[in-house]
Amino acid sequence: MEDPADDAALDVAAMSSDAAAPVPAPAASQVPAPAAPHTPAATGDGSARSGTARRIPARPGDASAVLALQMYRSLPKYVAARTMGRRMPGILTGPAAPLRLVTEERRRLPEGAGWARLAPRLAGISGSDLAAVTGSAGLYFTALVSLPFVPGHEVVGDLTTDCEDLPAGTRVVLDSVLGCAARGVDPCRGCAAGANHRCDHVTVGHLSPGLQTGFCADTGGGWSTEMLAHRSQLHPVPDRFDDSVAVLIEPLARAIHAAHRAQVRSGDHVVVSGAGTLGLFITLALRQLSAASTITVIAKHPRQAELASAFGATDIFGPDDAFRGVRRSTKAFQLKPDHGRHYLLGGADIAIDAVGSAGSVNTVLRSTKPGGRVVLAGLPAGSVDLSPLWFRELELAGSYASPAEGDDGSSLFDLAFELAATVDLSTVLGARYSLRRWRQALDHAQTAGKSGTVKVAFDLTGER
Ligand SMILES: [Zn+2]
Repeated sequence: MEDPADDAALDVAAMSSDAAAPVPAPAASQVPAPAAPHTPAATGDGSARSGTARRIPARPGDASAVLALQMYRSLPKYVAARTMGRRMPGILTGPAAPLRLVTEERRRLPEGAGWARLAPRLAGISGSDLAAVTGSAGLYFTALVSLPFVPGHEVVGDLTTDCEDLPAGTRVVLDSVLGCAARGVDPCRGCAAGANHRCDHVTVGHLSPGLQTGFCADTGGGWSTEMLAHRSQLHPVPDRFDDSVAVLIEPLARAIHAAHRAQVRSGDHVVVSGAGTLGLFITLALRQLSAASTITVIAKHPRQAELASAFGATDIFGPDDAFRGVRRSTKAFQLKPDHGRHYLLGGADIAIDAVGSAGSVNTVLRSTKPGGRVVLAGLPAGSVDLSPLWFRELELAGSYASPAEGDDGSSLFDLAFELAATVDLSTVLGARYSLRRWRQALDHAQTAGKSGTVKVAFDLTGER
């Protein structure tokens, strides 16, 4: 059953042009008549909550209304989430949560060619989504997002309007990066080279700032019944893939990129720290696409260990045994400083962080051999000790999103589809929730590993 408390909390937050963004008025045909007597209410600072918003129930079937889970600015709540979100599971979905379920008027299509409407079927809850809503992503990103935004960048859905060569009705997955093509500006150096994930223009053009869909006020996101997407972001889904697999293609493309960033040479020993969706998919990509000989995965939970093994891990250790395990197989020395965790002299050729926590990043830095390579694929949170980077002369590489093209010019999403066809991914998506059960969904996603679930997603098909 739906939680009636959630229904009662529905806010009207009409995304009028003065509230949503500097989107110029489009042709009348692109904007259906606004629904009923919505009171434009939401503003960038979340003041809608303080009194001007009208509370009315969502009206399923109202073609001009969009049901969306919205993150809005509320500094005290944001700070509360930052200080408590990670230590107190559950607080995120309590009164301190910077989220609310709203009905919005449909967004106007941005200026420029290539924009279309998309009705999400499934939208995953990722680690970076959780980092954003708990505030653990840090203040660095505040200049790269525009509030209020609708999270959700792991999306499979149906186009409801034509999008250049893709007719309405096409089932697509989303490459979430909002690069120069989507923003209607001349390509920056990154975009010109096919590396749109390195775009320098993510705050300009005819969209509000937003490094990617799911963090931009103008596009909406997957945690809703309708969002906007640009042709440069869309990849049609071959019929052989179920929605439950298609929704994993975006994180799979990210994992392939992380495996590429690792620059594995034949015979290398690679450590992967973390066995959530990202760590498991990096393991799969390393096994299928690289010449790594040993892939050591650090997994907290039994189900994660099972899947890591199925996806190609050579050996698997819990966080407490990780140094001992890597030391044994690399014949490294293990040292214990006066304070803090162990570290190795010697170690793996390459270590990849797929978590982003300080503990995980410290672990990969401390288990890599001199001159080795460390890849940060998780969204970093917390401070780390860089002593090993200096003393061991490590190479440190970031891995963010995925480029449109790999080094050989091929599409990383095409490669992700190919990889998805080689293994059984049917059990990765472990739970689906309606938007109205968002509190339960986020709680579940935050504790997914412990409960034996890998990926949690919103199912929008029942909301249409
Ligand atoms: Zn660009």
